[in-house]
Amino acid sequence: MIDINLLVRAAYADGLKPPPRLLPSEWAENRRHLSPEASAEPGQWRNARAPYLVQPMDALSFYHPAERVVCKFSSQSGKTEIALNMIGFAAELDPGPILVIQPNASPMGEAFSKDRVAPMFRDSPSLRKLIGKPGSRAAQATVMHKKFPGGHITIAGANSPSGLASRPIRYLIGDELDRWEITKEGNPLLLARKRLQTFRVRGNSKELLVSSPTYADVGICAAYDACAQQWERHLVCDGCGKTTFPTMENFTPQAEFVCTHCGHTHPPDVQDRLKLTGVWVKVKDEGERSIGFWMSQWSSPFARWADTLAEWTDAQDPAERQVVTNTVFAMPWEGEGDRADPHALRGRAEHWDADVPAGVEFLTIGADVQGDRIEAEVVGWAMSGESWSIAYEVLPGEPETGDAFAALDDLWRARWSDSEGNLYAPSMLCIDSGAFTKHIYSYVKRCRNPLIIPVKGASGFQRETVSMDRRARMRRTVRRMQSGSPPEILGVDQLKLQVYRSLARPLLPGTACAHFPIDRSEEYYAQLTGERLQVARIGKSRTVQRVWVQHYAHVEALDARVYAFAAALFTDDPIRKRKVPTKRHEPAKPVRTRNQSGGGGFAAGMSEWLL
Ligand SMILES: [Zn+2]
Repeated sequence: MIDINLLVRAAYADGLKPPPRLLPSEWAENRRHLSPEASAEPGQWRNARAPYLVQPMDALSFYHPAERVVCKFSSQSGKTEIALNMIGFAAELDPGPILVIQPNASPMGEAFSKDRVAPMFRDSPSLRKLIGKPGSRAAQATVMHKKFPGGHITIAGANSPSGLASRPIRYLIGDELDRWEITKEGNPLLLARKRLQTFRVRGNSKELLVSSPTYADVGICAAYDACAQQWERHLVCDGCGKTTFPTMENFTPQAEFVCTHCGHTHPPDVQDRLKLTGVWVKVKDEGERSIGFWMSQWSSPFARWADTLAEWTDAQDPAERQVVTNTVFAMPWEGEGDRADPHALRGRAEHWDADVPAGVEFLTIGADVQGDRIEAEVVGWAMSGESWSIAYEVLPGEPETGDAFAALDDLWRARWSDSEGNLYAPSMLCIDSGAFTKHIYSYVKRCRNPLIIPVKGASGFQRETVSMDRRARMRRTVRRMQSGSPPEILGVDQLKLQVYRSLARPLLPGTACAHFPIDRSEEYYAQLTGERLQVARIGKSRTVQRVWVQHYAHVEALDARVYAFAAALFTDDPIRKRKVPTKRHEPAKPVRTRNQSGGGGFAAGMSEWLL
């Protein structure tokens, strides 16, 4: 139980004015007006419309001992209203400096100010007085900074931490935490928390973090897990009266809610009542300094169960399923293909009756260069992104002496036959130029072939897989004919993720799944799956990021596959059919470089499988 008198006395002793008697939810019920441009239901705020917001809001009151309130909520839940009501309540009744951090200053910080904060102050009469009439001194406000008696609101972007430094703040609001654009300048949350210090020692600072999650152990999930007290939003069963945190498993294809405890089935037409009578259930209680709330869209009055169900069943590929998992279920994404199982891959290897199995439309080569050898994979592709590993070759020879390149030339000139005797030549070769750079450039220069491309990996999940700017690529190609450089820069983090997702996908023709032949060694699969996507703290700011971590001694097979995949993405460029030398004892066959009929190209065909 909180000793209110003790708190009030402490506040008086600190020279503060007596704290407000209203709770934030009561302030909202009495004073908050929803603006027509920001709400589907404009007019007076009603707690009865979203009763689950009351408890998180009131944890932000002076009388609640929580210093930090964490809301891990689905998108359609009104979670930003908690932040807005906190701002309105603080501005009118318990003023102090407020800092709001949005993922970026522009456009998100500006939009939050113009579309949410400004209309709230305009349409809520008690707040309107605080900011003053347009033209008055009090109205001297900018988009990112507004003053009111006893305090101010500053809106900053996580991408410009310099905007966070300076004076103390009493209220910190971190909105859409998992979408923050973190720069090398430092972790904005840690910087902002330092500014809370002055008020925290007096016991009246408040921090509010709201977001839908992305991955476990980062962002809002990490903040929620660290909370001393945790609450989940449950539905209460009509049959047995017990409570359930609703997940996909609790819903039938007809969008009926099935109780975990007694199996009682609730038809969709009782959902409004069930959501309004939902309860917060305490699942962890180790103190009150930090308090976390977790709610999914199943409990939200702003989305129908049938629509929520459809969002999941409509999600076709991992990227869409991740979005639904994060923003609808408010769950972290565990990943599909973030790691791959070498035994499962080897177990599903296939026998083909020709070099090139049915379904292959064109071939590419990816080459990884080592000190004493080049490892290269020939991969067959369909426009859908489906792939077949045609050959994997270890070509001995040192790049310094050029021996290895002779063997690579032979592989480039090799022809591969399908069961009908059609011959295939590789359309494109990507060779790693990250090491032995000079030697690779002189090899590429010697080739004088625009289809042989030096590539260099660059990290970062935001980076595009391959440059899709054709004109710039054409300019680089022309330069390469002269000098063998520059290389094409590959977004290897994203490429690896897509390769891994293809490895994880079931073997369904027409989807971006990966086929392997039965003669591939155990070592090959160990290398191909030799990295794992992990969450790690990076750099001085200890920023949490996803990184690929190598867990097997060699990963040449994975690198070769990544380069062959990049080569497939580059085949968007028009490629002339190349003739194959006709041998005397063999009838001439056309050489297929790629299927000319497939409109839109490989990248377009793949796009449905890509992030
Ligand atoms: Zn029940």
